[in-house]
Amino acid sequence: MGDILKVRCPTCHRVGEWFAGAYGPFCSKRCRLIDLGKWFNEEHAISDPLRPEHLEPYADLPPGQDLDATDTEEQDRRSPPPSARPASGDPDQDPTSA
Ligand SMILES: [Zn+2]
Repeated sequence: MGDILKVRCPTCHRVGEWFAGAYGPFCSKRCRLIDLGKWFNEEHAISDPLRPEHLEPYADLPPGQDLDATDTEEQDRRSPPPSARPASGDPDQDPTSA
């Protein structure tokens, strides 16, 4: 062993053996207090409870939308772009039935 574990101070991003000190992983008491202050100011936390208006951007998603779907899959679930339609197809007609 004997290796010195160097870490980056979360507050000031200076790299050093902060874990060996009294304020690890912070480089100093000051940096630790600054980080604590951030938490108390809820800078790191979600400060607002979830409200209906937060979901408005997603209101046009169909119910049961798989939010884990990739972008490609998401596009497939929506109406295909005009270029993907058969040229001779009526847009209102199911292209697979033609
Ligand atoms: Zn620091």
